[in-house]
Amino acid sequence: MTNRFVSRRWFLEQASLAAALALTPHWSRGAESPPAKKLGVALAGLGGYSTGQLGPALRETHSCRLAGVITGSRAKGEQWARDYGFSDKSIYSYDSMARIADDPAIDIVYVVTPNGLHAEHAIAAAKAGKHVILEKPMCNTVAECDAVLVACKVANVRHSIGYRLFWDPYHTELRRLARAEDFGGFKQMKGDRAFVMRTWRWRADKKLAGGGPLMDLGVYLIQGACMAKQGVAPAFVTARELPKTRPEISRDTEETLQWSMEWPDGAVAELTTSYQQNYDHFRAEAPKGWIDFKEEAFGYKVGAVETSRGPLNYPAPNQQALQMDDFAQCIQTGRASPVPGEMGRRDLAIIEAIYRAVASGRREAVKAT
Ligand code: NAD
Repeated sequence: MTNRFVSRRWFLEQASLAAALALTPHWSRGAESPPAKKLGVALAGLGGYSTGQLGPALRETHSCRLAGVITGSRAKGEQWARDYGFSDKSIYSYDSMARIADDPAIDIVYVVTPNGLHAEHAIAAAKAGKHVILEKPMCNTVAECDAVLVACKVANVRHSIGYRLFWDPYHTELRRLARAEDFGGFKQMKGDRAFVMRTWRWRADKKLAGGGPLMDLGVYLIQGACMAKQGVAPAFVTARELPKTRPEISRDTEETLQWSMEWPDGAVAELTTSYQQNYDHFRAEAPKGWIDFKEEAFGYKVGAVETSRGPLNYPAPNQQALQMDDFAQCIQTGRASPVPGEMGRRDLAIIEAIYRAVASGRREAVKAT
């Protein structure tokens, strides 16, 4: 079917079908059986993301439940145990993670600590025989990602990255359009993601964050651009750091970074990330069509999205609940995670190439394999 014959009504019907499928658990589509039991998730790190998003999302999951926590504060753990109704016995400190091996209530450890601690905490979870979800970015370096992948393999446990947007219907549509023949394949991508960091936080600390906004926010743009290229990593990158306006905050990390990524088929992505402005956009263009994320491109609730065929309007799902349910179903059915550790490693390989390009001032090859 060519673009000329696609009516707006047909497109909207297809789009809402795609959205409905994206929002429906796999098993209710007949692909897999309903989960036999809910898997127990322990959150490692009870900061902003666990408190604001993951804990509440676990109340909405069908296939998992909050069964424990790993925290530096016993009192906080006890409060979580009361709020979420799990046993005090399933409260751990970072130093006592090895004891989780003897806790049958916990099947999955979800690592939600600062990036520079992800490898240590994920490896401790794997050694305790538990499946692991690591928040984005997977780790600070490719070497750390490799260490996590080896630990999971040795322990025979599954791994996944907190790439929640895989379950967002607009991003599902981006992936579908990337595969569809009628747009002709995305060739130009443009995007930015930034927020204003008003006071210094670990996110601007080289050791704990691995870098500046590229690690925290740029990774979303890398994800979006790779989705538009059907999961293929770029071959080359060039990058430049803009002068710092507040060096007291971005002390040993970048404040604003602009970079481009090039694919072997000639596709290019031009991307920007920063800790001194607020923006969140993404656009992908193909010879015969485009998709434009005009607001909150990578938010918990993605904003206005249009394509060359018209506006899209999908209900906002709980991305984190779908993400965790999917991982639980992967474990129970043996299906591979669509956002595995290898994908997190790929993105770190791209990030490392970008930092090399900043340092060298030259075009750098991405060593993704
Ligand atoms: P946060 O600062 O709010 O929480 C971090 C937690 O780690 C705190 O509970 C803190 O006590 C604990 N921690 C343990 N050891 C620490 C140490 N040495 N220094 C500092 N904190 C320590 O951060 P957050 O926003 O919850 O982010 C945590 C992780 O989740 C990061 O990797 C971040 O990139 C990721 N994240 C992902 C999303 C998403 O949408 N997928 C959103 C926010 C954060």
